[in-house]
Amino acid sequence: MEEKKSILIVEDERAIVEILKFNLMREGYDTLEALDGELGLELARTKDPDLILLDVMLPKMNGFEICQNLRDAGSTVPIIMLTAREEETDKVGLEAGGDDYMTKPFSMRELMARVRANIRRRSLDLDARASVGTLLKAGELVIEPSTFSVTKNGEPVDLTQEEPEIVRQGAAELN
Ligand code: CA
Repeated sequence: MEEKKSILIVEDERAIVEILKFNLMREGYDTLEALDGELGLELARTKDPDLILLDVMLPKMNGFEICQNLRDAGSTVPIIMLTAREEETDKVGLEAGGDDYMTKPFSMRELMARVRANIRRRSLDLDARASVGTLLKAGELVIEPSTFSVTKNGEPVDLTQEEPEIVRQGAAELN
C-alpha cells in the first residue's frame, strides 16, 4: 500500500484548522498542525511534509517569512498560501516561493483539488529526477540523459567540436 501523504496545516484560526484537517483526513492524508508561524516552520523542517497549507497572517512569524525561509534552505515542498482576501499580498506570496494561493473564504472542494494537483506534480517531478539520476559513463565522458548534455572530466563538451575525439576514445575503449 502506498504510504499516506502528510499535509502540514499552518493556521492560527482553530476552526479553519479543524475543517481542513477533517477534509484532508477524509481524502486519505495524514495531517500535522501548527497554530503559529514558529512552530509551523519547525514542523516543516523536521517532519518533511508532502505539502504545506500556509496562512499568511500568523502569530510569531508570518506565512511569507516561513515560505521564504524554506525556499532559502532549498526546500521544494509544494506550498499553498491561504490569504485573507484578494490583495497584492497574493503576488508577494508567490514571489516568496509559494506554488499556489487561495483566498478565504475558499471552496473546500477547490482546495482539495489543488492539494491533489500539487502533490501529484511533486511526485512526478521526484520520479523524473530519480529516473534520470542514472548517468551514462564512457571513459572520461558522462552523459546526462535528461538534458542530453555531455561532460568530460566535469567540463561541458561541445559535441560538434569534440566529435572526432569521442570517436577516438570510443575506439580506444574497444581496443
Ligand atoms: Ca491568520
